[in-house]
Amino acid sequence: MARGSIAARLRALAPSATLAIDQRAKAMRAEGIDVVSFAAGEPDFPTPDWVVDAAIEAARDPRNHRYTPAAGLSELREQIAAVTARDSGLAVPASSVVVTNGGKHAIYEAVAALVDPGDEVLIPAPYWVSYPEIVRLAGGVPVPIPTSIETGFKVTPEQLEAAITKRTSLFIHVSPSNPTGAVYTQEETAALAEILDAAGVWVLSDEIYQHLTYTGSRAPSLGEVVTERLRERLVLVNGVAKTFAMTGWRVGWLVGPREVVDAVANLQSQLTSNVANVSQRAALAALRAPLEATAPMREAFARRREAIVSGLAAIEGLDVLWPDGAFYVFPSLERLLAERAPGASSLELAARLLEEAHVAVVPGEAFDGPGHWRLSYALGDDALEEGVRRIAEFLGKL
Ligand code: PMP
Repeated sequence: MARGSIAARLRALAPSATLAIDQRAKAMRAEGIDVVSFAAGEPDFPTPDWVVDAAIEAARDPRNHRYTPAAGLSELREQIAAVTARDSGLAVPASSVVVTNGGKHAIYEAVAALVDPGDEVLIPAPYWVSYPEIVRLAGGVPVPIPTSIETGFKVTPEQLEAAITKRTSLFIHVSPSNPTGAVYTQEETAALAEILDAAGVWVLSDEIYQHLTYTGSRAPSLGEVVTERLRERLVLVNGVAKTFAMTGWRVGWLVGPREVVDAVANLQSQLTSNVANVSQRAALAALRAPLEATAPMREAFARRREAIVSGLAAIEGLDVLWPDGAFYVFPSLERLLAERAPGASSLELAARLLEEAHVAVVPGEAFDGPGHWRLSYALGDDALEEGVRRIAEFLGKL
């Protein structure tokens, strides 16, 4: 490395495209422009009062002014073990849990523990922007498995089997998915588990959107369908960010086999020590409440999903798959581009949409899904309606 230069590892790191667009939208707003942003990846609701109250109480208690164990408060680990059994069908002791600074940190640490330089990591595409960057930071090689609107943006067992090589160390599963909203059914989940069991690779299952589903059914967890053997290779990642509108509190966790948990807790003890004590207390309050407490937020998302998907589907040239979960929709512009803007990309069109119609969307290129846009429907109903109207007008003029 040349003296005085930034390490190659970080020079190669791509900045988060979603954050970049959000920042441009915010800068335009600061100039007084009325921007509708579908770019954000977080609920627009405040954290529920009863969670905030628990945090205020915790902040006043000097016991919470100290470090906690690196792997987290024991009460919180107990509670996470209980919700993992309830929601993901996996009975685990509290010692199988590490509390992390958000789901993202859990993924980073899990990948650091499971991937050696040169190892291949299978990632269904379109994928959340952070997965490949986190894999590269560990020296691993991200290997996308392409999916499309025709297959509901889901990987088939045949595709998974064909993608596994001697160098594969890890498969990253996410359901509901960001950016597509796809949710794997129980049968589809079981079919993937069968292949993964036989392959003997590590599996990271990102369940951060687990509770945001709209079709009446839950998002089944790999934890419910694992064999004893796969269980020894399965790491679940989750957090309070999306379910409880707590993105800013930074509490996530991973649940996994003993050797993984020990390695991750060790890494965390050197990297960040523990998650903020008060945030852990807030997360404990959130997880102790019955899930029904978050029903109003889910209902708002369900209503907005109806509004945005039907609004976009009515626009000539867009192909839209109803997303079953999370709070994203991933319309295809491929037909529209071919017919009315040959040579243009979804990226260029997104840039024009922002500058000309003052609507922010994230181009699919950011997720290895060119020809699409990702729209988050975690924004107010009126803004959502106005944004869809502007998109229809903008695309109609092409
Ligand atoms: N996984 C996915 C798929 C996500 O979209 C996000 C948030 N954008 C996370 C994990 C991380 O969430 P957090 O770090 O806020 O808990």
